[in-house]
Amino acid sequence: MLEFQNVSFRYPGDGTPTLDGLSFRAERGEFVSVIGPSGCGKSTIFRLASGLLTPDAGEITVNGQSIAGQKNYCGYMPQSDLLFPWRTVAENVRLPLEIRGGLSKGEMDDETDRALEAVGLSGWGKKSPKELSGGMRQRAAFARTVLTGSELLLLDEPFSALDYLTRLSMREWLLDQWQRERKTVLFITHDVEEAVFLSGRVLAAEARPVTALAPFPVPLGYPRTMDSLKEPAMLELKTRLIEKLRRREP
Ligand code: ADP
Repeated sequence: MLEFQNVSFRYPGDGTPTLDGLSFRAERGEFVSVIGPSGCGKSTIFRLASGLLTPDAGEITVNGQSIAGQKNYCGYMPQSDLLFPWRTVAENVRLPLEIRGGLSKGEMDDETDRALEAVGLSGWGKKSPKELSGGMRQRAAFARTVLTGSELLLLDEPFSALDYLTRLSMREWLLDQWQRERKTVLFITHDVEEAVFLSGRVLAAEARPVTALAPFPVPLGYPRTMDSLKEPAMLELKTRLIEKLRRREP
């Protein structure tokens, strides 16, 4: 689905590159988490995959075609929910439909209502984002990302601003959505337990510059519950990943 081939990137003015000859791929329908120390380049990988930044060298393809000539191939959800405060919740969620064009107002209303219902926000469309809780705003932002219609979703620490208990329910909610839709999801998180719970595979970023992502297959199929995390193989993977990240702290 998504493939990086020998991708290098350096921010203008930075002495060292952020990515150097990085190759990896995510298969169609996979849920892949990317973990790594903060500042190592995870978000940069997403900015490149979404086309916000262009590689200095190497190639990024989606479905075997360079992303340079493609539009609307991914939905990108950055760290904060970034809902526009002057738009209602529904007006925020329908934004990708307005940008894509080609639908009547009635068709856009119907699609928006369906998306709000899918994330448990029926009846909240006319509210302003500030009237929603943090978890509800994240669900609205997720609905908006899904309405891009893209098969590839790039989610950059979508739950980082939420309190612990809301995070736990959002994990279960996201896994449920993914099992229904089977989109390809790339998910950045600081939280090793979150990565293990959600993913089929965890990719661990090396220190900057990122030259490789070490793959760790998660030894348990789906569906999963919170109790899945208590399985010995899952606990062992969690410990291995924490050790890997701790070794890289200075
Ligand atoms: P992560 O998501 O792993 O925390 P980022 O991809 O955001 O890391 O950043 C990787 C590195 O690139 C950091 O060391 C940061 O200082 C640098 N960086 C990020 N954004 C910019 C920018 N706009 N200009 C210059 N350097 C940047």
